[in-house]
Amino acid sequence: MNTNRKILFIVALMLIGLAVATITNVALNFRDYGYNNAIEKSKMTAEIVRDGLTAHMVNGIMDKREFFLANIANIKDVQKLWIVRSDNVVRQHGEGLDNEHARDAIDKKVLKEGVIIREIHEDAQNAVLRVTIPYTATAYGNPNCLACHNAKEGDVLGAISMEFNINDIRQTGAMTIAKIFAINVVFIIIALWVTHHYFKPYMKLFENLQNGIKRARTGDFSFRFTTTLKDAGSEVADQMNTLFQKMEETFGGIKHNLNTFASRSNISTSDPLSTAGIIIQELSDVYKFKKTIEHDANKDAVYERFIYVLKEKFNFNHFALYEVDKTTKERKLIYITDHQSFCLPAVDKDANECRAYRTATDVYSTDFPEICVNCADKKEYSCIPFNINDDLSLILSYSAKDVETIQAMNLVLPSIRNYFEAAKAVIESRTLMDKLRDSSLRDGATGLYNRRFLEEFIDKISEQAIRSHVSYAVLMIDIDYFKMVNDTYGHDAGDVVIKSLSEILVQNIRKADLPVRYGGEEFLVLLHNTTTEGALGVAEKIRTHFNQKKFQFGSDTVQKTLSIGIAHFPSQSNSIWKVIKFADIALYEGKHTGRNRIVEFEDRMFNGGDQF
Ligand code: GH3
Ligand code: MG
Ligand code: MG
Repeated sequence: MNTNRKILFIVALMLIGLAVATITNVALNFRDYGYNNAIEKSKMTAEIVRDGLTAHMVNGIMDKREFFLANIANIKDVQKLWIVRSDNVVRQHGEGLDNEHARDAIDKKVLKEGVIIREIHEDAQNAVLRVTIPYTATAYGNPNCLACHNAKEGDVLGAISMEFNINDIRQTGAMTIAKIFAINVVFIIIALWVTHHYFKPYMKLFENLQNGIKRARTGDFSFRFTTTLKDAGSEVADQMNTLFQKMEETFGGIKHNLNTFASRSNISTSDPLSTAGIIIQELSDVYKFKKTIEHDANKDAVYERFIYVLKEKFNFNHFALYEVDKTTKERKLIYITDHQSFCLPAVDKDANECRAYRTATDVYSTDFPEICVNCADKKEYSCIPFNINDDLSLILSYSAKDVETIQAMNLVLPSIRNYFEAAKAVIESRTLMDKLRDSSLRDGATGLYNRRFLEEFIDKISEQAIRSHVSYAVLMIDIDYFKMVNDTYGHDAGDVVIKSLSEILVQNIRKADLPVRYGGEEFLVLLHNTTTEGALGVAEKIRTHFNQKKFQFGSDTVQKTLSIGIAHFPSQSNSIWKVIKFADIALYEGKHTGRNRIVEFEDRMFNGGDQF
């Protein structure tokens, strides 16, 4: 039953209850009133008859009483009237008239007991009130009964019986009840109609709200609320529509992305808003993880955080992380929770012995008992390969004592993959950086990377940066009037200045940045994920530190300045070589405009050229 019907039903029930109570009350009162009337009438008639008969007796015309009684019997509504003599009176005054004998048991009972008896005889057609009233002897009346009758005080001398037609009373009562009933029916109908008419729009809005909210719980905010109500009702509908529209725009926009993410995670609840909440929380955790590892200097630091997440977030108790060099097919252990190796020794020598690496698919002991022949006695285990690039793969192995636990661990794998995806680009870039750092092709004098290495790796660095949305600020640095140092104080003095600048560079950049000795006294620095302001700040620090450095050549104290050109990759060009060129152009702009300056590249400085 809908709410509108419920309200109508309750109102109808209350009104019907009220009507029934009213009608019952009227019916009962009306009946009492009618009967009491008839009874009063019977008492009065009885007294009139008694007084009339006494008068007849006193006047000695007792034999004429029949005429008197016949007249009395003509009173309206009196159907029958008769009097009865008691045995006492019969004995003293004779039998009396023929019709003055006790006619029935009531007459006899009244004569015997001296009590009034009233009875109603009712059937479908007729309603009759029968009243029989005794006449009792008393010495206190006027005249004194005992003066004429041989009787004692209180003896029954006779009785009068009357039958009243109370059809009229019954009919009038029935008519009154019918009228009240009709009025009530009309009133109930009007009341229900008014209630229905007044409440219907509210109920409609209420049902709308119920339906809309039910759909919203499934993530569908397309429902719009309509109402014929004014004021508060239409305000509620308007506000709900605004809210739903906002929710639809916001939620609809992120739904697709969340669904993509949810399909990679194992998150699903029947309530999409809760799912969204969980996914957003997870996304935020993954984002924080990504932001943190981006600032980690090397691959090992990234691995450490990945291991921390496995332990603290996913509560993995026993697991190992391996790194596979795809070129040499060597598998190196990065981390294991205890010394209980997951694999037989053969796997460490040849990565192809690792089923997860060889097949590049997840290996689950729950799929098939003893699925990996090289497993070293782990009850339940899973081995998951994560591909980094053509050179590197990671293998995550974890185990549990029972099937339930390993299945629970397998369930969080999609979330772990999200973390891995976030770490992948950073691991790749750090691997590359590590390779560069460890390279023997460095500049011997400063220990920095040299131009040849830059030429070898810069394309890989830029490709990887584009893939993982990493940017670089390129600083091109050149000492002002450097030739003068060589010419005045000799080549060795020049070398000291160059070495000093390289140290200042290293001291003022982060580990993720890459300094390169680009030419004689010309340096290039790649600043990792650095904004325009950030790059300017770093350049300024380098410039001032170098400028403050005092070189002692013989008796001379020498201070030098430098000029710096800045350009940005990939915002100014997605060719790293072009960006290096732009930084160079900016540097020479600095030279031409007075030196000891930091100049950012602007498009106007570059007059084209198709060499890139
Ligand atoms: P500018 O302000 O225009 O840069 O003037 P500059 O004198 O510095 O001119 P430039 O940058 O062209 O000078 C480069 C000189 O640096 C040329 C070369 O003799 C010298 N040089 C290059 N490599 C070395 C090195 O390893 N040691 C020393 N001592 N000098 C070097
Ligand atoms: Mg110079
Ligand atoms: Mg130079």
